[in-house]
Amino acid sequence: VIEIRDLHKSYGQLEVLKGVSITAHRGEVISLIGSSGSGKSTLLRCANLLEDSQQGEILFKGEPVSWKGSGLARRPADAKQVLRIRTNLSMVFQQFNLWAHMTILQNVMEAPVTVLGRDRADVEERARHYLDKVGIGDKCAAYPAQLSGGQQQRAAIARGLCMEPEALLFDEPTSALDPELEQEVVRVIKDLATEGRTMLIVTHDMKMAHDVSDHVVFLHQGLIEEEGAPGPLFDAPKSERLRGFLSSTK
Ligand code: ATP
Ligand code: MG
Repeated sequence: VIEIRDLHKSYGQLEVLKGVSITAHRGEVISLIGSSGSGKSTLLRCANLLEDSQQGEILFKGEPVSWKGSGLARRPADAKQVLRIRTNLSMVFQQFNLWAHMTILQNVMEAPVTVLGRDRADVEERARHYLDKVGIGDKCAAYPAQLSGGQQQRAAIARGLCMEPEALLFDEPTSALDPELEQEVVRVIKDLATEGRTMLIVTHDMKMAHDVSDHVVFLHQGLIEEEGAPGPLFDAPKSERLRGFLSSTK
C-alpha cells in the first residue's frame, strides 16, 4: 500500500531522516520505535505528505508521488494526488484533535461529508457502525469534553476509519492516556490488526508493538538501526543501541 524509498528530510540545516526505506504491504502492521527525536513522527508525516521531503521516493499503491523542484524546494506536484493519498492514509494523533463544538457523531462524519463529498445518510450509517465497533456507540450525541481520554481516542480512531482509508497511521495513540484507558485503545488497535488493516504505528508501548506488529522498525538518529519480526527483534536484539533502548523502556 505504501512504500518509502531512501527518504531524506531536513528542517533547514538539521537532517532528521537520512535515507529511510519502509514498505507496508496490504494487511501488514508495522511499528516504528526509537528514542525521542529519532524521526518517527517526521517519517509518518512525510509518508502522509504533511511534510515535504528532499530526496527519495514515496509510492502509494505502486504510484510514485510526483515532485516539482529539488532539495529544500521539493514539493508534491499534483494537488489531487496529495489529497487522494492523504485521505487514504488516515492519521490518528496523540492528541485526538476532535472538534470541541461538534458531537462525537458529527466529528466522525465531518471529513467524509465535507472533504470526500459522500452522501450524508450513508456516512452517518457508517459513522455509527465504527463508533459501535470501537465501543462508544452510546456516545454519538455527546461532546468531546464529556468523554474520557480513552473514549476520545477511540472516537478519533472511528473518525479515521470512517474515511475508509487504505491504511491507518498512528502517532503515539496511547501516550496521552492513563494506563487503564490505554488498554481500551490497545484493544481496538489489536482488533484492527486482526481484521487485516494496514497500519503504521509509532509507539512507546513495546508490549503493543510486540503483540500487534508483523514488522518492527527501530529508528536511531534518522536511520533504521535494526528491523525485523517482533519476536526476534525484542527477544534477541542484535544492535547495541536497540539493546540499550529496550532496557531503557522497561
Ligand atoms: P518523539 O518520540 O519525542 O515524538 P520523534 O522520533 O517523533 O520523537 P520527530 O518529532 O520526528 O521525533 O523529530 C525529529 C527531529 O526533528 C527532532 O530533532 C526535532 O527537534 C526535529 N523537528 C521536528 N519537527 C520540526 C519542525 N517543525 N521544525 C524543526 N525541527 C523539527
Ligand atoms: Mg513523535
